[in-house]
Amino acid sequence: MANNNQIAFSEEPHFYDDVCQYVDQAAKYTDHDKGLLSQIKACNSVYRFQFPIRKGNSFEIIHAWRVEHSHHMSPTKGGIRYSEMVNEDEVMALAALMTYKCAIVNVPFGGAKGGVKINPKNYTVAELETITRRYTVELIKKNFIGPGIDVPAPDYGSGEREMSWIADTYLTMNPGSLDALGCVTGKPIALHGIAGRREATGRGVAYAIRECTSVAEDMKAIGLSTGLEGKRVIVQGLGNVGYHSAKYLIEFGATIVGFCEFEGAIYNKNGFDLDEVFEHRKKTGSILGFSKSQQDFNNSAEGLEQECDILVPAALENQITEKNVGRIKAKIIGEGANGPTTPAAAALFIENGGIIIPDMYANAGGVTVSYFEWLKNLSHVAFGRMGRRYDENSNINIMNLIEKTTGTTLTQQQRLLVAKGATELELVNSGLEDTMIRSYHEIREIKLKKNIDSLRTAAFVAAVDKIAISYMNMGIWP
Ligand code: GLU
Repeated sequence: MANNNQIAFSEEPHFYDDVCQYVDQAAKYTDHDKGLLSQIKACNSVYRFQFPIRKGNSFEIIHAWRVEHSHHMSPTKGGIRYSEMVNEDEVMALAALMTYKCAIVNVPFGGAKGGVKINPKNYTVAELETITRRYTVELIKKNFIGPGIDVPAPDYGSGEREMSWIADTYLTMNPGSLDALGCVTGKPIALHGIAGRREATGRGVAYAIRECTSVAEDMKAIGLSTGLEGKRVIVQGLGNVGYHSAKYLIEFGATIVGFCEFEGAIYNKNGFDLDEVFEHRKKTGSILGFSKSQQDFNNSAEGLEQECDILVPAALENQITEKNVGRIKAKIIGEGANGPTTPAAAALFIENGGIIIPDMYANAGGVTVSYFEWLKNLSHVAFGRMGRRYDENSNINIMNLIEKTTGTTLTQQQRLLVAKGATELELVNSGLEDTMIRSYHEIREIKLKKNIDSLRTAAFVAAVDKIAISYMNMGIWP
């Protein structure tokens, strides 16, 4: 059998340790039992597996993982990454980040993550379907998927198409199950997905940065004016998260002066039209050579170091390290990706008077809207489905139904929109906006109250406290 696992693990496996270190740092501001903290940090279940697929006339082994980090809440939740670079340490770290992320934004899930070690570009659509369906069956066999067990979603290298295959496989294997569609989120709308999920992570990143720049006192401290209007932004990554972060930052008044991708970077101090850049890359396969760029950089990393106020790394982890952080001109880093700044680089950046809006909060918009999609699937009613408003209480039944079947409470803004007869998209966006605003201030308050130097540590304090309370309430059995 040919082995697909030719790529050596290039990065030293330290990502999971980094995440654990963040927890240790935050723990200093809490007084939780040491044993409880160890339980919080540990990955509860790590499932590593492999399966063969046919490729041409031979076979190939596909290496894959699903990690459920924490069962303080069920189901567990997190995306599946399709990448040649995926390794166990990375999946464990990302699963752990999902736990803290969900706690920060009060989404009642434990954290999980999946990985399939392939470069999707090397496979036909039919092969990708085979891989995805077989991956799903492996999860079903071991009870690692289900609407009340573990609910995957898209991540780097996977999207709506893969989620459809997962949903269909699960449905096929669970005939008659009413809740089966809640086994995965990020599905297309036509397959019981939810409006606004595709853009949710990027939209959430933009809300997070908007909220940060709206605090006059904090902006003054780092020498920036208040608000997003006219702020110069560099975005790394033109994938789903990068594209939508840029889109909504522009909508909120910012100017995108730079884009960085694998092949290089472009810069224009007067700003770019996002869709023109996107179309150019789609047509030519590269952002380089775009007619309205003032400066092209063959070395993508150089793009991060250009003049701007805000840097949005929305690609992969370990992009801002001790080596390049001193050359970053931005005053704010809004982490669209998971783990783009190493702990040492983050400490230096903050010491030099910068603000980092941490990944586990900044990119939590995706899982927040996934939560809405899961609620929609379990309640079997699309948000805003039950007619138009004639009086304040005309949609009270649907509100009660959503709350009763899911055991959750709609936000006040959502209730108002339901009462008005708002569309699903309006409800989703308002719920997302509300979540990002509230969570930002919750983290910032903790930072101020406990005199913590970074928003990340404050966010971990908030998360660890909530997870600890869940574990304490559950007790230990037997
Ligand atoms: N993959 C996304 C993340 O890292 C979304 C996870 C989800 O929606 O469950 O947050």
